[in-house]
Amino acid sequence: MRLKSIELSGFKSFAKKTELQFASAVTSIVGPNGSGKSNVAESFRFVLGEQSMKSMRGRRGEDMIWNGSAQVARAGRASVKLVFDNSDRALNLDFDEVSIERVVNRDGSNEYVLNGSTVRLRDISELLAQANIGASGHHIISQGEADRILSSSPRERREMLEDALGLTAYLYKREEAGKKLEKTAENMREVEGLRRELAPHLKFLQSQVRKIEESQKLRDDLAQKYLDYLKRESVYVRVREEALRAERELPEREHRDLQNRVVTLRASLEAKKDDAGASKLVHLEEDARRASMRRDALGREIGRIEGELVAAERLSHVVQETVPASQAREFAAKVEQELEEAMHSEVDMRQRVAGLIILAKDFLRRITEGEASEPGHSKDELLARKAQLEGELAHSVQEESRIAGEIAALRTALESEKDASREAERELFGAMSRRSELELILARLRGQAEVLERESNALKQELGEAGAFIGRLVYDYETFEVKNASGAPLADDEIASEQRAHQEERRKKIERLKIRLEESGLGNAHEILKEHQETLERDEFLARELTDLETSREHLLTLIDELTKTLATRFGEGIEKINFEFNNFFMLMFGGGSAALTLTKDDQEDDSEEAEPASAKATAAKEGVDISISLPHKRVKGLHMLSGGERALTSIALIFAMSQVNPPPFLILDETDAALDEANARRYGDMLAALAKRSQLIVITHNRETMSRAGILYGITMGSDGVSKLLSVRFEDALAVAK
Ligand code: ATP
Repeated sequence: MRLKSIELSGFKSFAKKTELQFASAVTSIVGPNGSGKSNVAESFRFVLGEQSMKSMRGRRGEDMIWNGSAQVARAGRASVKLVFDNSDRALNLDFDEVSIERVVNRDGSNEYVLNGSTVRLRDISELLAQANIGASGHHIISQGEADRILSSSPRERREMLEDALGLTAYLYKREEAGKKLEKTAENMREVEGLRRELAPHLKFLQSQVRKIEESQKLRDDLAQKYLDYLKRESVYVRVREEALRAERELPEREHRDLQNRVVTLRASLEAKKDDAGASKLVHLEEDARRASMRRDALGREIGRIEGELVAAERLSHVVQETVPASQAREFAAKVEQELEEAMHSEVDMRQRVAGLIILAKDFLRRITEGEASEPGHSKDELLARKAQLEGELAHSVQEESRIAGEIAALRTALESEKDASREAERELFGAMSRRSELELILARLRGQAEVLERESNALKQELGEAGAFIGRLVYDYETFEVKNASGAPLADDEIASEQRAHQEERRKKIERLKIRLEESGLGNAHEILKEHQETLERDEFLARELTDLETSREHLLTLIDELTKTLATRFGEGIEKINFEFNNFFMLMFGGGSAALTLTKDDQEDDSEEAEPASAKATAAKEGVDISISLPHKRVKGLHMLSGGERALTSIALIFAMSQVNPPPFLILDETDAALDEANARRYGDMLAALAKRSQLIVITHNRETMSRAGILYGITMGSDGVSKLLSVRFEDALAVAK
């Protein structure tokens, strides 16, 4: 890597764009006092990211900007651009040329531009650190600062050395790791704080969850008890209903039959009360009496006729014929006709018989009264009459016995009918008493059915209530298997025949459980469980995060430890090498003596750095670097006892030694040689030549010897306009320009 050029624009006295090219190993800048040479050296500091305005002789960013003069107006911004040849890729960028530019505006804002792209200062610092261009600026030795390395504190010195040894990259890494560690610790505290905050809430939720679980257990218990109870109850109701139905069946049927029978019996008894038979008997008895009277009358008539026949027998001598034959024949014919008709019509028998009797009476009256003159009836007529009457009598007797037979038959019939009624009445009474017996039974059964119905209704209500407590689970009761104490399933009959007191006991237990469940009062269980789950997950997440943080803390501590060890090793090795060169240069400068860097403990700044007492960083930070010297032929006790020239020589020896061990790409020396006498200036020149083999040198000088070592000489002048101007000068003219 090689420094190609620097371009100043509006920077301090360089009002106009000015470019210095560094085509040679040693470039010398010469010019009169106050012409702006140091401004060039400071432009290097500026572009490399120097943050201390003081080290650039300013108080604020604005002081870096061309402030204007009577002739030239002030600038709004200052910019400095460095260009490197990066063909060797010493800078880790895939460009042959790398340009770094810094701009400061009047408002104090800065811009950093890397190859035309705006970047952060940090990007530039890291890029340069790789090429051993550190921020401490040990490679830019400002005017009067030649012995800065001597006058600085052991700790500052250490930093310069670390920078010079190219350890800045490690330091950056360690610093970064340290920051990360701090951040991690902060995060850990934060996470621990969050967990602490969460803990009481989580504890509360856990206790709630336990309660919920307990009430869930109660609910489960209740569900089991409910299912058992409901199943038993439903089986009981069903079995009992069936049993009652069956029990009722026979009595009901019997009752129904009896009812019919009673109606029938009543109807038949009612029917039997009809007395047609009795009145018929009365008629028949009347007929019988009449028939008997007729028989008697006929008997008497026949007797009379027989008497007449006897009389006629006696009169036969007197009167042949007492009744004219014509009349007797007429009477006989009449009777015969009447009888004939009577034979054919039974209905009129009685009238006809009565008619015949009247006819007979009339005939007799006529014989006895008016017609006594006439001869009486003939014997034949009497005989005929007697025969006729006897026929009638026979008929009448026949009739009478027929009527008697009929009466007897009717009487028998009536008698048996009476018996039948008594039987029916007896049956009716029996049926009625059995019926009321059955009604009693049925009433009892109805009573039982009513009780059962109440129980069935209570069961329905209970189902509803159970649903409110155990939800849809309640429907499982139908398939629930009731078991006895030893776990064997119970048959329906066994369930139904159990004493009701047991079921009542179960119901009471259920009621008690329900009360306990209601008292547990965790209505919003779902939300609590959800919140608990979320809180738990959050806590677990935080715990994991804490573990992760712990792990990364471990990693960072390890990294810091490793970096610290590496730094310590590299630093130790570097110091050793520097010491070797330092001693050589020192002896060269002073013609003898010795010089060495020693590691010391910097006690003064200890107390404020207790943040990471365990880490190696603290130990390293406490360590500083001291310089011990011994001049030839002199007993010098410390640096403070050296003369100005001796200080300059010592510091130059050290700076050069540092540059030898880890050569920076370029080294800017602003009048470092100012205090040297001629002999030392020559030695200084020799050392420059040696250094220039490994680093580009830009030397600001008034010294002829130094100028003579430069390949390129730039003259800087300043006119009355206050603007620095650049001109290339030849060696021969250089001294003149410098004055
Ligand atoms: P010497 O040889 O005496 O060390 P030098 O050549 O190093 O001098 P510088 O110190 O670089 O000179 O320049 C100082 C000059 O720069 C001063 O005249 C100062 O007025 C001028 N200067 C510094 N800052 C500004 C600025 N912001 N605007 C204008 N001029 C400035």
